[in-house]
Amino acid sequence: MGINKKELIQVKKGSKLGARICFDWNFVVPRIDTCSTCDSLSNKVGNTGDNEKKKEAQMALDFHHRKVECATKAMQADVRNAKHSDFYVIAYDMQQQIYVPQLTHSEMYYSRQLACCNLGIHDSDIENGFMCVLPETVGGRGSLEVAHCVYSYLTKQITTNKKKLIVWSDNCGAQNKNHIVLSMYLTLLAKDVVRTIATAKQKNLFVVAVFDGFHDWRSVAKNLNMTKLKISEAAKIRLSRDQFGTPEVWKSHGALQFPTKTNILRKGVTIDDFATIEVNEQPTKHGIPEEKVAHIRAMLPYLTNEAYEYYSQLLG
Ligand SMILES: [Zn+2]
Repeated sequence: MGINKKELIQVKKGSKLGARICFDWNFVVPRIDTCSTCDSLSNKVGNTGDNEKKKEAQMALDFHHRKVECATKAMQADVRNAKHSDFYVIAYDMQQQIYVPQLTHSEMYYSRQLACCNLGIHDSDIENGFMCVLPETVGGRGSLEVAHCVYSYLTKQITTNKKKLIVWSDNCGAQNKNHIVLSMYLTLLAKDVVRTIATAKQKNLFVVAVFDGFHDWRSVAKNLNMTKLKISEAAKIRLSRDQFGTPEVWKSHGALQFPTKTNILRKGVTIDDFATIEVNEQPTKHGIPEEKVAHIRAMLPYLTNEAYEYYSQLLG
């Protein structure tokens, strides 16, 4: 079974005029690749001599796949129903690293290019995409970048009267399931995104944005104490304005599951601390890595004027 860990973050905003605003954060798995759980269990099934242990691993693998199917169906339903439901639905995914500039002559096989990440956000409501391009001279594929891109999209790029929002994202702990991204969602919640979105302007469809830097979500995340949350085990997390800072956590998508509640705010921290945060893009230029400078310089003669200018500036 092709597996790729996927995570669902549902950002549910109150049923009436933001009266009850909350985020649901769900985690799902397989599509194309296997996830680490799949690989580890498949390995046990294939390589364990002990029949009992083999059986145990097979059962665990089946259970894992069932959980995945359940979550995948939920995601597909969200995407399918987006236009006709009262939820605004987006999904985002960090795509495979690409290398630029892309030239095709044979010397390129031996040349070092710039690594470039792309966080693709798919908006199911307008059936369109938003690409957050992250060259290595600015940032990488970490949680700060993810938090900044998602925040920027939700507060600057869309306009809607919907009161609820569902966000699907990758299940990767380093990128998404962590205190940095969680602090970003709490900030959205504290700032009452309904208003922000309602006043934002609709930009051109299929927008590509190259970011110059990121807000320091790390400093916001210092307001949180995550030790009891067990975010890595979570299948779904709901954040609400009613119970700000006390997420409800589900370990699976099953209908019979009940959530546990965990306060993650440090002592003395309130919703106001998040509502008053000023979110800025702080430039984080690293420059071209030294070992790539000569390679990139050698590519300049083959570039279009626009690209030439871009890479010349980077080279300084
Ligand atoms: Zn898996």
